[in-house]
Parts: sequence; structure tokens; C-alpha cells
Amino acid sequence: MKKHNFSAGPSILPQEVIMKASEAVLDFNNDGLSILEISHRSKAFIDVMEKARSLVLELMGLEGKGYKALFLQGGASTQFLMVALNLLEKRAGYLNTGTWASKAIKEAKKLDDIYEVASSKEANFNYIPKQYDIPSDYDYFHCTSNNTIFGTQLKSFPDCEIPMVCDMSSDIFSRELDFSKFGIIYAGAQKNMGPAGTTLVVVKEDILGKVSRNIPSIMDYKVHIDSGSMFNTPPVFAVYTSMLTLEWLKNLGGIKAAQELNEKKATLMYSEIDINPLFKGFAAKEDRSMMNATFTLENENLKETFDTMLKEAGISGLNGHRSVGGYRASMYNALPLDSVKAVVEVMSELERKA
Ligand SMILES: *Cc1c(COP(=O)(O)O)cnc(C)c1O
Repeated sequence: MKKHNFSAGPSILPQEVIMKASEAVLDFNNDGLSILEISHRSKAFIDVMEKARSLVLELMGLEGKGYKALFLQGGASTQFLMVALNLLEKRAGYLNTGTWASKAIKEAKKLDDIYEVASSKEANFNYIPKQYDIPSDYDYFHCTSNNTIFGTQLKSFPDCEIPMVCDMSSDIFSRELDFSKFGIIYAGAQKNMGPAGTTLVVVKEDILGKVSRNIPSIMDYKVHIDSGSMFNTPPVFAVYTSMLTLEWLKNLGGIKAAQELNEKKATLMYSEIDINPLFKGFAAKEDRSMMNATFTLENENLKETFDTMLKEAGISGLNGHRSVGGYRASMYNALPLDSVKAVVEVMSELERKA
């Protein structure tokens, strides 16, 4: 039986996507070859890459606005450095809202001085700082839209005169945003878009070419743009499966439809956390993530019982990250409402038993 998959990443994919991807592993396009063994320069795969790239811009409403979508490798972690290599000349401002934001800062600091505009580190990142200035003479501003580990999420983005760069790894395509506010958006595919192995980068072309350093080719966005996201062999299967997920999302009704479902799931999850005296939410209420709900059991003695009950209900991946402890329900686009209902049922069952 298929489990209720709350894994934080790599994470749940639509069942329909998994079926189509497995068919393509056996025989791609009824052509007698597997997707795993075709050339990335074949017309069949170039079509896949182009489809995936254009679906990204279409879903984000960025067509004809000077943006390019790239499917790269090295994970979001490589983007921490790549962003700085391509944009950092004098100084950049970073909003520090969690482990991933801190890692982005650490990498950029290897190139130059960077400035933390604000941080919630003193409170173990359980909230999003809101009062801060972004100096208008900086090269760019970097933020992390959703803090996967701590379960906080930016509900709004600052108005920014300089290019705004955003790590959207764990909430990309989950809610409607004005994506044209951003200079660069990047996201590892494995949370909300596809399997591990590829990283989406959406870049506004006119912000490039302004630094004096000689950027290594594979780290240069312009090189990837000029080669149609095929500078070297792309991760063929990961791009194909991401394309299938983007098609699935489009057929669902796009980001708007995904957001409606995500709101329902999050509302259900958080109302149980708030109403059930056995549990306590970790993140500040106004900053709660729609994707990752973090919570703890008030009475640790109930942990074994609760974990057994979760297991019996076929619920997987609910363990919290070690830096927060407790539990984390990751409710990405492909997670059905029924899976959240299943967790909520176990939580209220525990209350009745305790
Ligand atoms: C998971 C995650 C990362 C790391 O992604 P990799 O692809 O493993 O490098 C970076 N940022 C955020 C917000 C994440 O959730």
C-alpha cells in the first residue's frame, strides 16, 4: 500500500508522474529506447528540455519579460556560490532566516564582504525578521522564501531597488507570487518539482554581465543561457520527470489551484496543532509555512505511542529535523488532502487515548 509521504525532500511526486516516468524508463515515446539511454542531443530530449523551460516561465507568468529558465546541476547549494560569482562585485545584503540562508551567506562570504540585513538566529529561527533596510547601492539582496527546517515562510517580499535573489527550493510553484519582482529564483527540484538531480534557475537576463571577475564557464549563467541549458550533459531523467510534474501542475490549474489546495492542507494541519493540547507549534503563527509545519509533543513520554500510531496509519517522513526536534509535516504540492486528514486523525486519537 502507498504510504502517506510527508518527507521533507526528496519528497512526494504525483502518482501520475511516477507512472509516466517509469514507462519512459522502459520505453520512451514508444521508440524502443529508454529515457536513460538516449542522447541529450537527440531531438526527443531537446524537446523535453525546451518544454520544461517554457512551462516554468508560463506557470510563473514570466513569458516575454526577459527571463530564462535553466535546469542545472549541483543542487541549490551550488547556487549559493554561483549567485555570488555572477552578481557580487562590491557588497550584497542577505536575510538570515535559517540553516539554508546561513549556508548561502557562508558561501558568498568566500568571495567578498556581505551584510546580514537581519537575522532571527537568536530565536533559533522561529520567526521572520520584518524591519530592515536594503541599501540601494548593493549588488543584490538575497532571501529564502521558505525555511524548510524551521517551518517559517516569507508572506511578503520587500520592495527592492536592486536585484532580488530568492532560494525557493521548498515552496516553488506552491503559491501565487509576482515573480517579476525577482532577478534570480532558484530551487533544487527535489522538494516541490521533481526528483533530486536538477536545480531550476530562473534568471532575468539584464542583471547579468555586471561583474568584473572572470567567471568559470560552468558557473556562468550566461554560458548556460547561450547553450540552451545544455552546456554539458544535463541530468536527462531528472529534467524529464520535472517536466512531467510541471505538466501535471498546469493540468491541475496552475499555481493558483495548487495554492488553494495547499491552503486547505495547512489550515487543517495547523488547526489541529493549535486545538490539541498535546502538541505545540514551533514557528511564530504569522510566519508559519504552508509547506512545512513544525511542531513538538508537549509530553515526550507519549512519543513512542504516537510514533507507533503514525506507523500503523501508514504515515511516513514526519520526523522533525534534528535542529528543531519534534515533528515536521511537509505538505508539498503533490501531497493529497487525505494524507493530512490521516495525520490529524492520529493526533486526535492520541488525545483521546492520553
Ligand atoms: C533543501 C534545501 C536546500 C539544499 O538543496 P540541495 O539541492 O540539497 O543543495 C537549499 N535551500 C533550501 C531552502 C532547501 O530547502
